[in-house]
Amino acid sequence: MHTERICVFGIVQGVGFRPFVSRIAAVHAIRGTVCNKGSYVEILAQGAAPSALTAFHDDLEGKAPERSAILKVVTTTEDRSPYETFSIVESAREKGDIFVSPDIAICDTCKKELFDKTNRRYLHPFINCTACGPRLTILDAMPYDRERTSMGEFPMCPQCEYEYTHAETRRYDAQPVCCNDCGPEVYLLDQPERRRQAIIAARQAIIDGKIIAVKGIGGFHLCCDARNEQTVQALRQRKRRPVKPFAVMMKDLDAVRQQCVLPDGVEKALDGHQKPIVLLPKKSGQTLAPSIAPGNPSIGVMLPYTPLHLLLFMYDDGLSVPDALVMTSANESGAPICHDDEEARQELSGLCDLILSHNRRIRLRADDSVMDWYDGKPYMIRRSRGYAPLPFFYGKGTGKDVLAIGGELKNCFCIGRNNLFYPSPYIGDMADIRTVEALRQSIRRMTTLLEAEPSVVACDLHPRYNTTAVAHELGLPVVPVQHHYAHILSCMAENGYEQPVIGVAFDGTGYGTDGTIWGGEVLVSDAHGFQRAASIQPFWQRGGDVSAREGWRIAVSLIDGLQQDRSQAAATIDALHLCSEAERQAQFFLADQQINSVLSTSAGRLFDGVSAILGIYRSSTFEGQASMALQFAAEAWERTQPQPPVQPMAPLHHKDRLILPTGALVQRILEGRLAGGHTGQLAYGFHRDLAAMIAGACLAVREETGLTTVALSGGVFQNRLLLGLCDQALQSLDFTVLKHSTVPPNDGGIALGQAIYAAYM
Ligand SMILES: [Zn+2]
Ligand SMILES: [Zn+2]
Repeated sequence: MHTERICVFGIVQGVGFRPFVSRIAAVHAIRGTVCNKGSYVEILAQGAAPSALTAFHDDLEGKAPERSAILKVVTTTEDRSPYETFSIVESAREKGDIFVSPDIAICDTCKKELFDKTNRRYLHPFINCTACGPRLTILDAMPYDRERTSMGEFPMCPQCEYEYTHAETRRYDAQPVCCNDCGPEVYLLDQPERRRQAIIAARQAIIDGKIIAVKGIGGFHLCCDARNEQTVQALRQRKRRPVKPFAVMMKDLDAVRQQCVLPDGVEKALDGHQKPIVLLPKKSGQTLAPSIAPGNPSIGVMLPYTPLHLLLFMYDDGLSVPDALVMTSANESGAPICHDDEEARQELSGLCDLILSHNRRIRLRADDSVMDWYDGKPYMIRRSRGYAPLPFFYGKGTGKDVLAIGGELKNCFCIGRNNLFYPSPYIGDMADIRTVEALRQSIRRMTTLLEAEPSVVACDLHPRYNTTAVAHELGLPVVPVQHHYAHILSCMAENGYEQPVIGVAFDGTGYGTDGTIWGGEVLVSDAHGFQRAASIQPFWQRGGDVSAREGWRIAVSLIDGLQQDRSQAAATIDALHLCSEAERQAQFFLADQQINSVLSTSAGRLFDGVSAILGIYRSSTFEGQASMALQFAAEAWERTQPQPPVQPMAPLHHKDRLILPTGALVQRILEGRLAGGHTGQLAYGFHRDLAAMIAGACLAVREETGLTTVALSGGVFQNRLLLGLCDQALQSLDFTVLKHSTVPPNDGGIALGQAIYAAYM
């Protein structure tokens, strides 16, 4: 009999796809089978008439479950003996392109059941269904079946088993399905309270102004009342985190509207099934504790995404918990997020008053994703829970597997299989040896999950990065990739752009091919290589790694470079109160002896230096603090008056490349500051002139190469003011501008770029 073999590729596992197929088969009287093949879903379909098969096809693509994402359907025909019924057959293992579903926030139907007294899962902290619940973080190996997840150790009760095996229920084939009788349970770590008593104790502790730790989907959070200034300050002291903003989880959208301004379209992102942290402008008169995000016009907000989060806000114990809670990744500064009781006991006991844990194991850590909002679209800052490991397609494929280790800060790695590239969840900063170990573990787990056998490993060009060492441990051929070139490739990849581009990489520091520090670069790039077409004007970066946190050192070096006369430079440095006389002498000594001095074109460090010159921040307690404050000052000024469009500024011609005249810009800022100019105005002028220089450099490169597409990447483009000014200036010059949206412009994105190069070089 005429039979169609339909292979559906995409996010079709763990999202209720097989029961969906079985339902529409019933509607169109289709007989045959559906089966998970590990990499795709295979359907064998026989219809009474060709029209029935056509209708079945239409529904397959048109009515697929909300959480699924069909990337490709391949249909072939063959002759088979007739089927009696339509049935779901057990998973077979087969190698191929594998799609692992990210974790999915609790769905609306489960939320209703959670608070329905007549439902048998009333207040069950692990309620989930075919459309929602943990996926990647509980997964051991593909294909996605219960025995290969953390739920394998919880045998189902007869009722759950019935739902799991019957296509007409909402939980058919939902691997994490469970209930109060058979599921995991919550408890206070090293305390007698379990289940209900544990939840009530946690809620009471929050009300009492205590700090608690809560186990979520991808790791633990530290949590407290976001309106209690004293508690938030205590959390800052214990975490030794003086000013870096804390994320806040709010009960619902109404609670968010009370505190924040919601730009158009943002509600959908905030309340979608990924539930990321979204940076939202504070509303005037908002009532959160000032220490949540001091000096920052925005706060990072997310909505509850697990049933347990919802139960912290709402329960039947008569207590009233605040509708805004600090929810910050629970780890010591620099260490990876804690994901099991042992780590929590060791690292969190001193930071919090009680630990609300549970016995469903987390197999793979996943921090919360963080996004900003630009031009009506998400602008990713950290791509992790809810997004990882959704793949990107790029190019025609090479048939080989590659592994890219990523960078040293905000690390995430990436696995490439043929033309599919799977970025990992966020791992962390590699300065901490525990994070390096977490990287090794996660690489092992993800390569197993994706059944990847990398033949080559890509890493940063920096010879002394911990990630470079990890790459060399693997015993595979190693391909070093220049940092800023990897940024540009990541932007091209997420935009699916395969032609050469004018890549503008404005970033912190990265190792250049000439051994100097790069970070304010214009690189003509494609997947096979790049050419350094322009950079900002080089300056001396002195004092090694500390200069990354101490912008005043950059400021001193900039001034020393601009002013020929030492005594005049000294007078300027003293007038700006950049440092003590002894510190100034020490810097001059380093300069004269050329000790610990490297030439740098890092845009990030230039921002830090200008921030110090303007008296905004002399130094930072976290990467980006000084430059963010510079941006906020500029934005506050921008709002006070209309600003004319940016006019491109021509670059200088240097022997091997073009130079953006940033030295003259610093000179103007310096003179303005010494003349008592307005800080905000000068900060705005800095952004504007930098955008004008970027536009001017792109024009010059266009003249030489004929290229008309610009890609904007690098951590400095987290600065939405600079991004907006460049975007507008370039568009008005008829450039096509590629920007990031779902891949971070910062170092969290470079693994994708490294993987593309390793695959296609
Ligand atoms: Zn659900
Ligand atoms: Zn059960």
